Parts: sequence; C-alpha cells; structure tokens
Amino acid sequence: EDLDVDIAIIGAGGAGLSAALKASEAGKSVVILEQMPIIGGNTNRATGGMNVAGTKYQEADGIKDDKQTWYDDTMKGGKNLNDPQLLKTLVDNAPDALEWLNDMGAGLTKVTLSGGQTNPRIHQPEDGSPVGPVIVEVLSNKLKELNIPILLNTTADSLIEKDGTIVGVKATDKNMNPFTINSKSVILATGGFGANAEMVIEYNENLEGFSTTNHAGATGSGITMAEEVGADLVDIDQIQIHPTTDPETGYLFTEGLRGDGAILVNKEGKRFTNELLTRDIVSKNILAQTDKIAYLVVNQEMADENASLSGYIEDGYATKGETIEALGSEIGIDSSTLATTLKNYTKYVNNNNDEEFDRTHLTQTLAEGPYYTIPVTPGIHHTMGGLKIDTQTHVLDKKGNKIKGLYAAGEVTGGIHGGNRIGGNAVADIIVFGRIAGETSANEID
Ligand code: ADP
Repeated sequence: EDLDVDIAIIGAGGAGLSAALKASEAGKSVVILEQMPIIGGNTNRATGGMNVAGTKYQEADGIKDDKQTWYDDTMKGGKNLNDPQLLKTLVDNAPDALEWLNDMGAGLTKVTLSGGQTNPRIHQPEDGSPVGPVIVEVLSNKLKELNIPILLNTTADSLIEKDGTIVGVKATDKNMNPFTINSKSVILATGGFGANAEMVIEYNENLEGFSTTNHAGATGSGITMAEEVGADLVDIDQIQIHPTTDPETGYLFTEGLRGDGAILVNKEGKRFTNELLTRDIVSKNILAQTDKIAYLVVNQEMADENASLSGYIEDGYATKGETIEALGSEIGIDSSTLATTLKNYTKYVNNNNDEEFDRTHLTQTLAEGPYYTIPVTPGIHHTMGGLKIDTQTHVLDKKGNKIKGLYAAGEVTGGIHGGNRIGGNAVADIIVFGRIAGETSANEID
C-alpha cells in the first residue's frame, strides 16, 4: 500500500536510525525502509568504538587530546585524500553526538587506543563489549518510544524525481509487492558495498577473491539509486581491507585487541610489523607473509580483562596452549622461535622500547600463559568512497549542485575517510552525519 510521509529514510543502520530520531524530534513524519529482516546493518558489526577528541572521559583518565590532533591523525591515515570540510564537521560535532548517545544509555565511557591514533580516543562500552549492537539497541529503543515505523524486509528500488526534486521512493514490500512512498525528501543511509563482490571488483580489480567482513545487505544499492538521479561519486575505488579477519568466514577481530596488547606473528613464529600501524599498512604486511596468514597472540591475563577477546575464545576462534611452546606445537609453528619472539617482546615491554618495530603503547608483557592464538588474514571491510555530499549532507550532482530533496549519511557517502579509514571513525561518522541529515532535511521542508 502506498504511503505518504515527510521524510523517507532508506537503511536502518546507525546513520538511518540517527537521522530518523532527529527528523522526528523536529516534528516531521518519518518512515525507515530496511531490506533485511533485522535492523542494524554493518553497524551491528562495529566492534571497536567511537572516536571523539576532547571528552570528559578522556580528561578523567588524564588523556590529553584535542580536535586538531584527531583531524591530523585522520588526514594522515587517510593519505590526505579526506575532504577537509567534511572532516572538520566530523571532529567538531562528535562530542555532542557522543553525549547524545550516552544520554540515551549507550555508556560509551571507556577510552582506549586504536591503530593510527596519537592518543587514546576510541570510546567503548565500559566492559569492552562490541560497540555496534549497543548503539543499535539504544537508538531503536528510542525509535520505539517515539513510534517511528521501520519497515523490515522492504527494499527501496529507485528514487522518484519530479521537476528536479526527489519526492519519494519506489519500493518492494515484504510480500514482494511494489509500492510507492510519497515524501518531501529522502535520506539515503544504505551503507557501503563491501558485500557486493562484483561492485568491489568493478572499482578495484586488485580485490578479487577477498573475503568480506560485511553483512549481506552491504550491496551498494544506494549508490546506484543516487547515480540514476545524477549524483556524483568520490573516492569510489578506495576500499579498505581490515587486517584481522577469520580466514574461513571473514569474521572480524577488533582492532582494539592489538591496542590492548595483542601481537602478530607469522607462520615462522616471528613478529613482522608494528601491530598498531594503520589498517592498510598492517594488512599489506600480513599479505607479505607465508600463506597471507598471521596469528594474533594473547594470554589469559588479557582475556580476563577484555570481553571481546573472551567472546572469541568462547566462540572457538582461538587455540590454547598452557605454555608458549605448547601453543607453538599445537598450531604448527616452530616452538623455540615463537618462545624467543615472546621473550624478546616481554623485554621490549619491560624496557618500554620495541627494538624491532618501534611499537609504542607497550602495555602487556605477555610474560605468562596460558596463551591463545587466533589465525587472521585481511578481508574487505569498509568502502570509503561513495556519494559526494556537502557538510549539510545534501547529495551533490556532477556540477557540484545540490540534488533537491536528497540527503545521504554514513558509509554510503564518500570523502570523510579519504584513502584509509581509522578504526573508530566510522561510528563517529554515522552518528554525526546521520544526525545532521535528520536535522537538515527536517528544516528544509515546510
Ligand atoms: P551505516 O553504517 O552507514 O549506517 P549500515 O550498513 O549500518 O550503514 O546500514 C545500512 C542499512 O541499509 C543496512 O541495514 C542495509 O540492509 C540497508 N539497505 C541498503 N540498501 C537498501 C535498500 N535498497 N533498501 C532498504 N534497505 C537498504
């Protein structure tokens, strides 16, 4: 059955849910379309946390950080491809976005370090549990409270344009029947295309055969729909591989694990990289090892402190050894080489000087067992490129003009992360720009 609303939002991930709340708070009627049987998209799979600089949580931990340092880290990590205005919008608006989530009960108060960051600034749930499901839950609880409808198993197929303005969506409902949503504007929050192998290879042929960390709904359809109405794309070939995914399934092991002290060794039992470099470099270094495989090495002490890690162990991803020698023979790595690697690493931590790879933030000595290893290989993770937007989330056409009535936020957009996304910046991105999309679209209709 056809629908009439003020604003149609396509995609029920972090960006779409945030946009819906903001538009609804501004008094507009809203509907969210979600093609999958559940909400949350790739946001559900966000394991790390939300980067924000200059928060009271950092201050409480004695961490000195500021927006400029975050901006600079992100530019550097993104190879200076990032859009300066969009990045500035991100860092300026993230503190409010974090408080907004925490006011709703997200509890992102624990601050740790992640790859490519000068200072600890990734805000996580206090028990270290994965951030994505927590965010999706607080946002959807609030949506329920406000009676904002989410149509599951409902796919947006195309945008409706009238006299140069986007005025609705053609969609397919859960019974596979076509229907129309007439709206005053549309927000695309459809996420990236990391699960669409064909599209990945179309834009970057080097990525053929890689596994993906993405949920099945990361199909890139929002990009296609917007292109059909003249949208411009930016950085579309910039596709991130995440260094630590399960070689069989693509399941992702959080970057925070390395931030919290895990090391990487190769099949020869040796370290080969500073584990805290940016994702692209760590991935490249793993791909240069035998069979493109590395092992995360951690110990019981770490597992006792880290909910994500103990989850991986419970779920059977890790192999255990009472001693490092036992662990080596368990997974077929030369035990004495592995023992030497660990002994050296313990020494580096104790001296606070990684003589081989210059790793900083040497927090865990890994001096005592039991030990665990998790085999990892890089997998397709995030599509940095996408729709070209301005700082108000208007989708721009190839001449740089706004496409009237069309807004976009989250992974479907490009420009914020440049050539490589820093861990923790996606969650900040989807909440900050999702909120802006909801506010702007609401303000621009009567
Ligand atoms: P973000 O992190 O940018 O919020 P997510 O991947 O978390 O992105 O969420 C995007 C959501 O959009 C996913 O749940 C996905 O299934 C949904 N989606 C993508 N394309 C369509 C479409 N054509 N119609 C309906 N939902 C879509």
